[in-house]
Amino acid sequence: MIYLDNNATTRLYQSVYHKHCEILHRFFGNPSSLYPAGVEVKAMIERSRVQVASFINADLSAGDTILFTSCATESNNSALHSAIHPNSHGKHIIISAVEHPSISVTASNFEKAGAKVTKIGVDSDGNLRLEELCSAITDETVLVSIMYVNSETGVIHDIANVVRTVKNIRENIIVHTDAVQAAGKIPIDVQALGVDMLTLSGHKFHAPKGVGVLYIRRGVPFVPFVLGGHQEHSLRAGTENTASIVALGEAAAITKAEMASGSVETISKLKEFMENKLKIIFPESIIFGEKAPRVCNTTNIGFRNILGHKLVLQLAKKGIYVSSGTACNSSSAKPSTVLTAMNVPNEYISSIRISLDSFNTEQNIIDLLIALEEILRGKK
Ligand code: PLP
Repeated sequence: MIYLDNNATTRLYQSVYHKHCEILHRFFGNPSSLYPAGVEVKAMIERSRVQVASFINADLSAGDTILFTSCATESNNSALHSAIHPNSHGKHIIISAVEHPSISVTASNFEKAGAKVTKIGVDSDGNLRLEELCSAITDETVLVSIMYVNSETGVIHDIANVVRTVKNIRENIIVHTDAVQAAGKIPIDVQALGVDMLTLSGHKFHAPKGVGVLYIRRGVPFVPFVLGGHQEHSLRAGTENTASIVALGEAAAITKAEMASGSVETISKLKEFMENKLKIIFPESIIFGEKAPRVCNTTNIGFRNILGHKLVLQLAKKGIYVSSGTACNSSSAKPSTVLTAMNVPNEYISSIRISLDSFNTEQNIIDLLIALEEILRGKK
């Protein structure tokens, strides 16, 4: 198998796998228990919290919160629910037109319940239209949620600028970012970004599935979403997924170390090699968001009048895994909302997304290029 779908999910780091198994098997105590088997796993969770804080430069000692959740979807839902509730000062949410459904569908539900939702558009390169954001803000606005990196195109949004812009207009608006696709690809520094809340998902950076993070800046009010227990300092009920939380902390520490030793540059070179070859072999193709700042690993490419999901299945027959659209709707033949928002011409709108990681090699890319040529040129 040649796995080139790392925005959908990633394989576990070997040591993360061992850690995960060890906790499941040996350290199975309930972290709420008062005896040593509980106390020791509680301490492991707190260690993981410190590792995650270090990964995103949060300051636990100053009162920043790292909240462990069941996934990024829950973190995103929680962020929205916390900002807009019966006692919030207004009922207006601003999101972008290219958010993951865990934001956009939740926002639509608030809209059905009477809230106002504004979606900020993007230009044809996928860049956020900041001027639309400025004019959308009203006295009623309680939350702005803009993703850091787009999952389909890899386009990076200038979140620090979004925060500055919003706070200059109204200091009390909560700014949240879904940074799921940023982890391991660009540094995440919550102090530099200035965000109030930020979401991560373990399985996008070599930790297990089913564990996420919501960062909450010190002083930012948080209304719990999952109720019925005192876990996570009473901010999220439910017995902690100890093994996955510890594994996530480990993966955050390894990812941070890998980034410091050049993983981003290595992946970038591989992507550059791939894109240069793709453009030569398929001159009619379009790489979406090519002119925008993009992360090191993501290439979303449209081949004229070729259906992305069919191409995904043809490549899969050759043992090469890529996706069309996001992981969650990649089986759908519907046009991607992201590419639609970017005004991509109809004959290109069905694309494939190739997303690399540090396990990939130049040979993987050569094999992909050969397979694409065989399929698209009918050379079997
Ligand atoms: N946000 C983004 C940008 C994503 O790409 C994804 C998953 O594809 C999610 C949120 C949801 O993550 P999870 O699977 O942890 O719920």
